[in-house]
Amino acid sequence: DVAGGSKRTSRVRVAVRLRPYMDKQDEKGEGSCVRGLGPQNLEIINWRNSTETLQYQFDVFYGEQTTQQEVFLTSVKPILPHLLNGQNASVFAYGPTGAGKTHTMLGSQEQPGIIPRAVREVFHLVLDLLSPNTQDLPIREDKDRNILIPGLTHTQLSSFSEFHTHFIPASLNRTTASTKLNHRSSRSHAILLIKVVKSQRVLPHRQQTGKLYLVDLAGSEDNRRTGNQGLRLKESGAINLSLFTLSKVVDSLNAGVGRVPYRDSKLTRLLQDSLGGSAHSVMITNIAPEYKYYFDTFTALNFAAKSKLI
Ligand code: ADP
Ligand code: MG
Repeated sequence: DVAGGSKRTSRVRVAVRLRPYMDKQDEKGEGSCVRGLGPQNLEIINWRNSTETLQYQFDVFYGEQTTQQEVFLTSVKPILPHLLNGQNASVFAYGPTGAGKTHTMLGSQEQPGIIPRAVREVFHLVLDLLSPNTQDLPIREDKDRNILIPGLTHTQLSSFSEFHTHFIPASLNRTTASTKLNHRSSRSHAILLIKVVKSQRVLPHRQQTGKLYLVDLAGSEDNRRTGNQGLRLKESGAINLSLFTLSKVVDSLNAGVGRVPYRDSKLTRLLQDSLGGSAHSVMITNIAPEYKYYFDTFTALNFAAKSKLI
């Protein structure tokens, strides 16, 4: 896709993940309002006429039984080798609070999500790359007296366990410090940037950097509905703007025509060089099956499906 300097920007792969039914006291009804129809399709009840359903198609649909491993292997692992060629990538989880974004991105000790798996895999790829030379890496000093180990991949972290020690507790703080409804995490985007820097062993020591953004987005439910005021309302405005702009960016990338409105929000400006262009991007829309999420699910699916419906 990038070869030959083609200006054509790459599509954003769109996945939808339905989490298992959890709320046993769903006031608004029994059972699930979402049903998988196949590896790319699902249906939800039509709110205009409950005897009908609305059907959607995506690049991939992950049903309730889908494991963390399967999501990682099919949506994320294949894009990671591109980082070593200096290309960028991004993976973001979108959807209402409670639908499984943090579970998908971070997961738990027992069910680790995309972030720990991706970091582990990046180290694995890097070590693979170095393995022929691990016996004898020459150390050199350049004219500015910087010590260089040509061929060694420089990262701020030197191992997966180091990442685990520093990153996981901080991320868990974000989820558990908040009170009801994951309040804090539902009102912020959590963005992890992993840079893979590859240096050439021989002179000139050219460097290539590949960036990977792993993003657990703020809840997609309309925060204004909940009667927020003052600072909260301002925050909600910023969240809504960034998610709205993100949807326009994804749409215009996938439609392949028109201006891509990266500059319309801070989030999309930040992600600009890792979303579209030569970058490899995946959006995982998380949804919940309970009726009380119905309208947030409907909105989230339409966000994800827009370019598919053209
Ligand atoms: P969000 O980050 O979108 O607000 P969470 O990831 O916190 O949602 O998920 C809400 C709850 O549902 C959590 O208790 C989480 O462990 C659980 N959950 C989400 N997705 C799954 C899944 N695929 N399998 C099992 N439990 C899940
Ligand atoms: Mg969350």
